Amino acid sequence: MKIAIIGGGASGIAAAIYAKRNNEKNSVTVFERSDRVLRKLLATGNGRCNLSNEYISPDNYFSHTPDVVSKILSAFTPNEERLFFESIGLLLCSEDDRIYPYSKRANAVSDALRHECERLGVNIRTNSFISKIEEKGEKFVILGEVFDKVVISCGGFSAPSFGTDGNSFTLLKSLGHTITKTSYALSPVKVYENVKSLKGIRTNATVTLIDNGERVRQEQGELQLTDYGLSGIAVMQLSRLCKDGSIIEIDLMSVFSKEKLVEFLLTRKENFPHLKADDFLTGIMHKTLAQYILARCNINANIPAENLLKKDICALAQEIKALSFKVKSVIGKEQSQATCGGALLSEFDTETLESKKVKNLYCIGEALDCVGDCGGYNLHWAWNTAYITGKNL
Ligand SMILES: Cc1cc2nc3c(=O)[nH]c(=O)nc-3n(C[C@H](O)[C@H](O)[C@H](O)COP(=O)(O)OP(=O)(O)OC[C@H]3O[C@@H](n4cnc5c(N)ncnc54)[C@H](O)[C@@H]3O)c2cc1C
Repeated sequence: MKIAIIGGGASGIAAAIYAKRNNEKNSVTVFERSDRVLRKLLATGNGRCNLSNEYISPDNYFSHTPDVVSKILSAFTPNEERLFFESIGLLLCSEDDRIYPYSKRANAVSDALRHECERLGVNIRTNSFISKIEEKGEKFVILGEVFDKVVISCGGFSAPSFGTDGNSFTLLKSLGHTITKTSYALSPVKVYENVKSLKGIRTNATVTLIDNGERVRQEQGELQLTDYGLSGIAVMQLSRLCKDGSIIEIDLMSVFSKEKLVEFLLTRKENFPHLKADDFLTGIMHKTLAQYILARCNINANIPAENLLKKDICALAQEIKALSFKVKSVIGKEQSQATCGGALLSEFDTETLESKKVKNLYCIGEALDCVGDCGGYNLHWAWNTAYITGKNL
């Protein structure tokens, strides 16, 4: 059986390994447009590769066909995943439920995958961009060569510098598949307010997305401020749902209720009457952020803390608990870590991910209409879908 895998990313390489293990007589060729496979994997998790999560649930994914996602997720057990990494010699560890290679180095994962491909005799052709898949009866012609089966694993349209520019969708469309509405997920967000002075600040926060007055989703985690807006895991998790005009509300001190925070600040005023207002919040939070909040409350930075009125204290508590920004846009393309939308899952058999439209055609990974949260969910999806297809090839 001659198998072509289009795209040498996480899902394509894992599928090649499964296909070869499944039947050593399978001839498996991975076509990769870049000069090496798994380039994106090296950048994941800030170079540490958060390759999965201890708790995988359909709730961590978004798709236009959530039932299909549930079925696919249930077919790949945590034990199956652990066995796969063990079988390529990769030791794992976890931190806050996120699973990493023990060395916390993404190249440990890419090297282990590449070595297993070499051992199994997977044929890897780099610098091979596939722009056309020609159907010939139940077979396919790719770069003049005939294949029995083709797996499309060329990702979505996020981070095009890693070779993923959405051409997978063009290929799939040319073969008769439906591509759902696509947008950028796991991205930073641009806001209308001028936040230039806050660039570089990182803090933990509870972040809530509000759309038309409705609290749509809340996340807790790292918040990063940039010269154009907001980033960090907590904001990236919400970005898929952000629209022009949505409000992002930040609680910088979720350990306090607003009432308790007012009490705390009033006591602080008693204890530190000599502090200038400018320094009143120093020691509680980043100084520049404290000054920004003071300015938003129209409080004169030069008055002593003892002159702060109860209404000033209440205004500070309000801003600290609900610092809000108006979303202008989601910063996509290179800064987005995953694509929302893709090949409509109901057009594929859930047991194998074979196309219901074109026999012997398969699609796996991010090219499918399913996107996960931050936390290893997207790479889990890549291994999961590779397993389903690979073990059936
Ligand atoms: C900066 C960054 C950090 C991330 N961190 C994490 C993380 O820590 N944890 C997590 O779970 N997810 C993370 N992700 C998301 C995760 O990397 C992807 O969801 C995952 O790699 C998708 O796997 P894939 O195999 O579907 O596609 P990809 O890994 O994107 O691979 C697709 C491959 O196909 C190739 N290709 C494309 N078109 C063609 C063509 N026509 N012909 C030949 N080759 C082609 C591309 O060059 C690429 O190598 C991150 C993403 C980015 C950008």
